[in-house]
Order: sequence, then C-alpha cells, then structure tokens
Amino acid sequence: MPKVSEGEVAFVRRAIELACTAVGDGHHPFAAVLVSSQGQVLFEGTNLVAKSGDPIDHAEVNTLRSAYRMHGLGSIIGAALYVSGEPCTMCAGMIVRFGISRVVFAAPESVLISLWKPTAGFKSYPSAKVFQAAGSAIEVIGGVLIEESKKPFELYHSQLTAREPTRTS
Ligand SMILES: [Zn+2]
Repeated sequence: MPKVSEGEVAFVRRAIELACTAVGDGHHPFAAVLVSSQGQVLFEGTNLVAKSGDPIDHAEVNTLRSAYRMHGLGSIIGAALYVSGEPCTMCAGMIVRFGISRVVFAAPESVLISLWKPTAGFKSYPSAKVFQAAGSAIEVIGGVLIEESKKPFELYHSQLTAREPTRTS
C-alpha cells in the first residue's frame, strides 16, 4: 500500500472529481490540487489544452503557474501536489523546478495510456527519471485510487461518442 494519509487520499479524490468536472466543461480529463506545507490549498487546476489551444496547458502547469501568481514562490516551495494521473516529463520538470516536496497521483502512465488513447506516434518518457534528478528533495507516490481515476476518462470517451454525428443509412 502506498504511504499516504487519509487526508492525502481525499486530495487525490478531489483531483479526480475536478477532472470529471473539467470533462463536463469540454476539457481533457486531467486535474491537480496544490497544497502548501501548512495544509492550505493553494490552487486547483485542470488541463485547458482543448479550449486554449496551448499544448503546454497541462493541469500541473496551470496549477503551479496560477499558484505562483497568487501566492508567490515562497508558498509553493515544499508544497505537495495531488494529481489525477501521473505527470508527464514536462510537468515533472516544472514540479522539480518549483521545489515541490511531494507528488501523489492516481493513474500511473501505463493506465493513462490505455485510457487516454493518445494519438499514433506518442512516445512514453516516464517522469520517474526527471523526479529522480531531484533525489531525496521530492517524494513521489503513484497508483492511489486507480479504479476511481478511470472515471474521468470513461466520461471523456462517452462524451466523444455522444458528439459523433448519427449515421443514417
Ligand atoms: Zn504534463
């Protein structure tokens, strides 16, 4: 079992719920919750790529960027990030750069790929190597609430199916 408290599981569950809400708003099924070392929620962010057209608008990027603007770097250093799915290498780099001390995510990349069904040519670059670069400065725990983490993806694909034009033959 991963070493996470009930409070942390609740934050992961919150990220999954936010991802479901994001899907309902026409966004991709990813979300993150940033919590300061004092336990204050600094920001809750979602992936905005589908509407912004900006390919780096991942949930983790948006969360850290907004928290930086609202609270400053001093509040972010040492914070914990709870994510609905395993961060990509880009986000992992930002997480390390911002001094996040703990990352807890739900769906690991293997599950994400099977559920998200990325476009052909997608290559997997596990973020673990990026996190390893930070050494003991960061603790990363994945695979929390895996079953629940599938819900936003199921919602996303069911909405895609619902949007496809009805065929009449
Ligand atoms: Zn990312």
